[in-house]
Amino acid sequence: MNGDLNFEEGGNPVQMNMIIAGNDPVLTDAYAANLMGFSIEEVPYIRMAESIGAGTADLANADIIELNKDIRSVKPMPSRRVQHLARYVVEDSACSACYGSLIHAPDRLDEKGLLNRLREKIYIGQGYRNRRCEGIGIGTCTSGFEKYVGGCPPKARDIVEYLKSLI
Ligand code: SF4
Repeated sequence: MNGDLNFEEGGNPVQMNMIIAGNDPVLTDAYAANLMGFSIEEVPYIRMAESIGAGTADLANADIIELNKDIRSVKPMPSRRVQHLARYVVEDSACSACYGSLIHAPDRLDEKGLLNRLREKIYIGQGYRNRRCEGIGIGTCTSGFEKYVGGCPPKARDIVEYLKSLI
C-alpha cells in the first residue's frame, strides 16, 4: 500500500509497505480507508457500493488475517506536505506502516481545521519501547506513555479519533 494523503493520482505518497488482498472489494476499500484515517462515511462510494450489493463495509465483523509484519524502518523521500505534517512528530526507528498510519492522521485533522489545536508532540517508533515520556505516543511501542494509541501498527482512523479526543 502506497496511499496518497489527499489525491488518488498522487502528489503526496505515503509508503506503508503493505499488500492488502481480499475477496470483497467493498470491505477491502473500507479497510484501506480506515488505514488512511477516513471514516467510511467520508468516502461516499463505499456505502453506494454496499447498497447495490457489491460487498459489505462491516469492518467490525471482518475476518482480517495479518500474515506478516514489516518492521523495517524505511524513510522514503517525503513530499513537502508530508514534511510539513512531520513537524508534529518525533520519530525513533518507526516501522514504515506505523509511520504511514500516523502521517495520514494529522492531515485528516488539518482538513477539519483542528491540527493547529494540537499542543503536544507526537512520539512514534521502536526506540520508545519501555520508555515513559511526556507527549502522545503512537503504537504499542509507546505503551509506557501516559497517553498513547495502541496497535501495531495502529490504524490512522484510531489515531485521528484519539487526537481529536485530546484537543
Ligand atoms: S508499534 Fe509496532 S508497527 Fe509501530 S513502531 Fe512499534 S513495532 Fe513498529
